[in-house]
Amino acid sequence: MELIDTHCHLDAAAFADDLPAVMRHAVEQGVAGVVAVGVSPMDFSAQCRAITQARRAGLSAWAAFGTHPWWANRVDPAEAVDGLEAQWAGAERPVAVGEVGLDFARDDIETEQQNALFTAQLDWAAERDLPVILHEQKSADRLLYWLRRRRHAGGVVHGFTGSQQQAEQFIEQGFFIGVGGAITHPGAHRMHRMMRELPLDSLVLETDAPNQPGHAHRGERNRPGYLPENLTALASLRGLDEGQLREAIARNVERLFKGRLRYNAAG
Ligand SMILES: [Zn+2]
Repeated sequence: MELIDTHCHLDAAAFADDLPAVMRHAVEQGVAGVVAVGVSPMDFSAQCRAITQARRAGLSAWAAFGTHPWWANRVDPAEAVDGLEAQWAGAERPVAVGEVGLDFARDDIETEQQNALFTAQLDWAAERDLPVILHEQKSADRLLYWLRRRRHAGGVVHGFTGSQQQAEQFIEQGFFIGVGGAITHPGAHRMHRMMRELPLDSLVLETDAPNQPGHAHRGERNRPGYLPENLTALASLRGLDEGQLREAIARNVERLFKGRLRYNAAG
């Protein structure tokens, strides 16, 4: 069963100089594929070029397109939807819409702008039965509020910072929880308890590379090749054999992306 990084940013400036080497490192570490997640329509073409480079290095690679809440005061909802439409009609059809969501740790971006940007993209995704990749920062309750009131096709909460109770509510809404480098920090007790107690069939693995490096790589640039370290940490927290866990997670990834990864593999 294959190990997939469900969340990384391949077009990030941090990878501009050596993306092929970073991708080869991921292959060497046993990563089979990556979902390259977008942040704004200005970057979608760079993202497509990065995906081509990943495939040349031997990885499977898929795209998620979307406008991140940090861009809410630069991209209006109509522009965000136009960007999605253009990609939907293009060669690199997305397997999800993301990164979208709400960030209430950023007090410089108006809540109303964030809500409008988020719900426009949530609705667009629902119409195409596409999962959404959610950015959540101090915004779990508000995201849940929208999910309960609008049609949606499920998805994943990435970089989750909320409580276990909130995680359970996302799972009830048909969402997976993205497990990243945060679980490798020895002091992350609340996170560790959550990772032991949440249902195994609700978890997928991610790096958020080049962001959010794990404990062994503090202060370093994160990379998709570090993904197996998150698998190891989760296996030890849950007292599971790594091979077994890898299989369970691969089945979850298949369900998260509704089988689309099979049909849209390495080009
Ligand atoms: Zn991200």
